[in-house]
Amino acid sequence: IKKIGVLTSGGDAPGMNAAVRAVVRTALSKGVDVYGVWDGYLGLHQNRIEQLARHDVSDLINRGGTFLGSARFPEFKEESVRREAIENMRQHGMEALVVIGGDGSYMGAKRLTEMGFPCIGLPGTIDNDVAGTDFTIGFHTALNTVLDAIDRLRDTCSSHHRIAIVEIMGRYCGDLTIMASIGSGAEFTIVPEKGFDEESLIQTVADDVTAGKKHSIIAITEHVTDVSALAKRIEARTGLETRATILGHIQRGGVPCAFDRVLASQMGSYAVELLSQGVGGRCVGIQSNKLVHHDIVDAIENMPRPFKQDLYDLTSLLA
Ligand code: ADP
Repeated sequence: IKKIGVLTSGGDAPGMNAAVRAVVRTALSKGVDVYGVWDGYLGLHQNRIEQLARHDVSDLINRGGTFLGSARFPEFKEESVRREAIENMRQHGMEALVVIGGDGSYMGAKRLTEMGFPCIGLPGTIDNDVAGTDFTIGFHTALNTVLDAIDRLRDTCSSHHRIAIVEIMGRYCGDLTIMASIGSGAEFTIVPEKGFDEESLIQTVADDVTAGKKHSIIAITEHVTDVSALAKRIEARTGLETRATILGHIQRGGVPCAFDRVLASQMGSYAVELLSQGVGGRCVGIQSNKLVHHDIVDAIENMPRPFKQDLYDLTSLLA
């Protein structure tokens, strides 16, 4: 293999830059040229593709976001659009593509692979919701950011005898909420995998207040319920001032933590190793502390992520 491409797609995540850097530098060390694609599948379709040199990825390992840019581009679900994208890549002489993104981006990579253009997927998202890996690039940085936010809320909650509801990202995956909850000592943990019984939550919070508890933190994943409305209902029942804080995109930005930089570097390098061995159509993961690769189609279709019941149980045991 002589020429490969790399793009970042979907929601940005800290560590994506480190992954691109690793792809570029590993490839160049093997005499393989690398083409960077701007703004994900959108730029791929618009043929915004440029060769990357070693120094193009200098001073990036410590930067959040993605210097290549990212985009949502639903049109990529159309086969004709993907065919034009493949044509653009072939014009540049590219033979394979490394896609760094979440499960939506993996779907695009899977489809390109099925159309005869081999892709390797790297899991880049703070949500930790990608098949075939224990951890995604960006997850640990976001976890630290969420922890920091909850620590701050705890200070003010305990000073003012308030209840705080913290809405945490993760789409339909509770990993970020569960681990942030354990790390911050939140009193209540609500995740999409477990459903949500509002009446029982409010009753327990009210019972705690009656028993003398002066403050509480409720960690909840996005999309589960309207947290501002929930705050009003808890306040009405308990008489304690209750505030909802939606952390939002704060969680997506920032300097990548050590773990994400190392993980991204390992995964980016591994992707190029695989391609140089003629292996395509795979997605890279880390499982039980070992780099692994799976068939990207099989991973998307047949590898559900097991719910972390043991960690979830710990949230209530220690609360
Ligand atoms: P993430 O990769 O973070 O999950 P999205 O779900 O938005 O983010 O997916 C990123 C991009 O991947 C989409 O904007 C689209 O271009 C592409 N994509 C998503 N689903 C598909 C699909 N079924 N077929 C082809 N491309 C897809």
